[in-house]
Amino acid sequence: MPELPEVETVRRDLEKEAIGRRVKSVEVNGNRSIRRHTNKKQFISRIEGQKIDAVERRGKNILVSLGDDYLVVHLGMSGQLLKAAPRDAVAKHTHVTISFTQGGQIRFVDPRTFGELYVVSKEHLAAEAPELAELGFDPIEDVMSWDEFGRRLMNKKVKLKTLLMDQKFVAGIGNIYSDEILWAAGLRYDRGSETVSTQEVRRLYRAMGEVLQEAIKLRGSSLADEQYRDLYGNVGGFSAEHKVYAREGEPCRRCRHTVERVKWQGRSAFYCPGCQV
Ligand SMILES: [Zn+2]
Repeated sequence: MPELPEVETVRRDLEKEAIGRRVKSVEVNGNRSIRRHTNKKQFISRIEGQKIDAVERRGKNILVSLGDDYLVVHLGMSGQLLKAAPRDAVAKHTHVTISFTQGGQIRFVDPRTFGELYVVSKEHLAAEAPELAELGFDPIEDVMSWDEFGRRLMNKKVKLKTLLMDQKFVAGIGNIYSDEILWAAGLRYDRGSETVSTQEVRRLYRAMGEVLQEAIKLRGSSLADEQYRDLYGNVGGFSAEHKVYAREGEPCRRCRHTVERVKWQGRSAFYCPGCQV
């Protein structure tokens, strides 16, 4: 599933390609991707004729600003936003096509259809999309001192991987980056958040920013089964930099101990038993 670095990459691409463009027409195939709306017309009528004036991100959501409204895009498991020309062949699983008056299109392709698009008014955002209003701090946008971060960790008393993936605590981190951040910090997935020392809090806080920034620089992670692509249809380059994620059985890049994969809370956790404590 695309996490903060992948979503931020697409946001930056969109910012470059779509700001100032006016929506000429919108085509929707099926209702699954726009399931929050009662019908296609209700979705389309709020976008057509609008001009894109900004592209923001909240957690794993892209918020395309259209005057008084946001077009919210959540990529789900396999969603892709792709720049296209009208003459380009339409890929299978293309659910939404947005055409601009200046020419060019943005298409939403999503084989597994967990992703979605919906329009909310900025004024009533909290009521219409409470999950956006409830998101925790953004690890690359929001300024927080590491001691404040440490205080919040102490108060939570949950396992570190659970905490990093809790969107209400910190927004945008999922299964891949929680493992990579914890490796960078030298901390285990199942360490209790209330047990970390001051020094470990600092390491974790620093690792969070560094791993995410590096992943954005390399335009995110694309995995064999998960289909993440940037706006131009290219895969991300950070997968090659993964230290533990999907590297079970391989030597740790820090201590040479074998990286392990454990079943944990319905998903997998990857870690190095040699250097994560
Ligand atoms: Zn190691």
